[in-house]
Amino acid sequence: IRYTAAKGWHDARVEPRGPIPMDPASSVLHYAQEIFEGMKAYRTADGGAALFRPEQNARRFQESARRMAMAELPEALFVEAVEQLVTIDRDWIPDGEGSLYLRPFMFATEVFLGVKPASEYLFVVLASPVGAYFKNKASAISVWVSETYTRAALGGTGAAKCGGNYAASLLAQSEAIAHGCDQVVFLDAVERRWIEELGGMNVFFRMDDGSLQTPPLGGTILPGITRDAIITLAREQGITVREEPYSLEQWRADAASGRLREVFACGTAAVLTGIGTVRTVTGDFAIGNGAEGEMTERLRSALIGIQRGRAADPHGWVHPV
Ligand code: PMP
Repeated sequence: IRYTAAKGWHDARVEPRGPIPMDPASSVLHYAQEIFEGMKAYRTADGGAALFRPEQNARRFQESARRMAMAELPEALFVEAVEQLVTIDRDWIPDGEGSLYLRPFMFATEVFLGVKPASEYLFVVLASPVGAYFKNKASAISVWVSETYTRAALGGTGAAKCGGNYAASLLAQSEAIAHGCDQVVFLDAVERRWIEELGGMNVFFRMDDGSLQTPPLGGTILPGITRDAIITLAREQGITVREEPYSLEQWRADAASGRLREVFACGTAAVLTGIGTVRTVTGDFAIGNGAEGEMTERLRSALIGIQRGRAADPHGWVHPV
């Protein structure tokens, strides 16, 4: 779907994936006005297809657009575009653990070199069948805490899902891989002390009193839709959830004393995954025995049960297509 200031949103079409011709002066190539979302369509227990809270992705997309001074795509149009693609690609939704990954994105197409917001955009949705996110991972993942690079500063673009945030995180993610880890953990940009999030996931800590703690949304971390669902599901199960800052020193101390029982990360791609090992420049530590914890498994099966239409959906999160 194209946007111009004169015509608004127009020229919606569905076509096979192929190259998009671009002028080298297209402003996205210079000033990075680009935002995206990540979503999944699931095969439901009755053989149908469903999205999970797509209106939340539509809303976050609008907020990202506002932060990046881009044209706002009406939420209904966003959801309709994704629905249309899922309908057409219905037979490509895998059974079992797989899903159809959807990548809505928008970028500035206007041709100019001056530094200003563009007035022309292209909104595109890609679809691709995917399997489990961490392949060959039967258990918990390992993470590398980046004490050199941060993902987002206050007043920056951390809460927006723009390509630039991910460009800034790639070097840190490569360092994590070089240290033998699956994912990077970012600290806050001011004190380099408070845990923010992983490269593509939010994080939760389970204490020995059975409560959960997760970093608060302070404008620098992505407001994950899975994070929000987990907070709701955990509270419904009687679990106390605190949205409070948690420092790296505390993480290390709580892991050593046994006060910390489980850590897990969550996001659309990986759903929920336990974190078993933490590596830092000043030494490694394990969470419990390094295996995935009981609450992680319990919350994951509660969430997957709803997503795949096997459990009741009291919040109306499942959006049949
Ligand atoms: N943080 C970051 C940096 C991410 O890229 C993602 C994935 N979108 C998340 C958190 C989790 O968000 P969600 O649950 O909406 O997928």
